[in-house]
Amino acid sequence: MNNINPSYIDSYINSLLVEDDEKLNKFREYCEERALPIIHKEVGQFIKLIINQLNAKNIIEVGTNVGYSSIFMSKVMNDEGKVVTLERSEKFYKEALKNISDFGLDKNIRVYFGDAVDILDEVEGNFDMAFIDAAKSYYRIFFDKCLKMMKPGGIILSDNVLYQGMIASDELVVRRKKTLVRNLRNYLEYISHDERFVTSVLPLGDGLAVTYIRSKECYQNY
Ligand code: SAH
Ligand code: MG
Repeated sequence: MNNINPSYIDSYINSLLVEDDEKLNKFREYCEERALPIIHKEVGQFIKLIINQLNAKNIIEVGTNVGYSSIFMSKVMNDEGKVVTLERSEKFYKEALKNISDFGLDKNIRVYFGDAVDILDEVEGNFDMAFIDAAKSYYRIFFDKCLKMMKPGGIILSDNVLYQGMIASDELVVRRKKTLVRNLRNYLEYISHDERFVTSVLPLGDGLAVTYIRSKECYQNY
C-alpha cells in the first residue's frame, strides 16, 4: 500500500503487464533488489503508450539514476530514437553509463552529469516527450526549462507527483516533507491551470502528471 491505490489494484494492473525482454527483466529485478527508485511497471507501460502515440524519436529525462527508464524508453523506440538524460550523482551517473553500454545503447542515450537546475540550459534539442523524475522541489524549474525545448503537441510526464498520498492529504504529510509537499502542490496547480497546457494527474504508481503542450495558435486568443 503506497497511499495511492489499494495494493490489490496495483497488483492486478501489474499482473497484466508482461515484459518479454529477459535482459530488461533481470535489470529491473536487480534495481528492485537494491531498492532503487526506478519507474513503477505500470508507469513504464503508460510511457510506452505515449511514445507509441507520439511516435516519439527524441526524449529528454531529468533523473537518470542507474539508467533503467532511459534504457526502457530507448528500447520502446526500437533503437531508432534518442534519449538525453541528466543525473547529478556521480556514482549513479557512472553506473548508468556502464548499464547503457551493457545494453549496447551508447549511441542512443546521452547522459549529462550535473545538477539539472544548472545544466538543462546546456542541453539543445527539440523533444517529443520529457520525463521529469528527480528532486521534487524543483519540478517547476525542470518543467519550464524542458518546455523551451519541446515540440508543440509534445507531452511532459512528471513522476511521483502524489508522493505517497501526501500531496492529496495533510493527514499523510510528515514534518520533514512539508516544503516538498508545498512545492509539488504549487507545481500541480501551475501545470493544471496554465492555458498553454492540458494536464491530467493520474493515480498511477506514485502519481503521474501528463501534460500536453498545446501549440501557440491554440491558446494565444484566450
Ligand atoms: N528515472 C529513473 C529513476 C530516477 S530516481 C528510472 O526510473 O530508472 C531520481 C534520480 O534523480 C536520482 O538518481 C537522483 O540522484 C537524481 N536527481 C535528483 N535531483 C536531481 C537534479 N537536480 N539534477 C539531476 N539529477 C537529480
Ligand atoms: Mg519516479
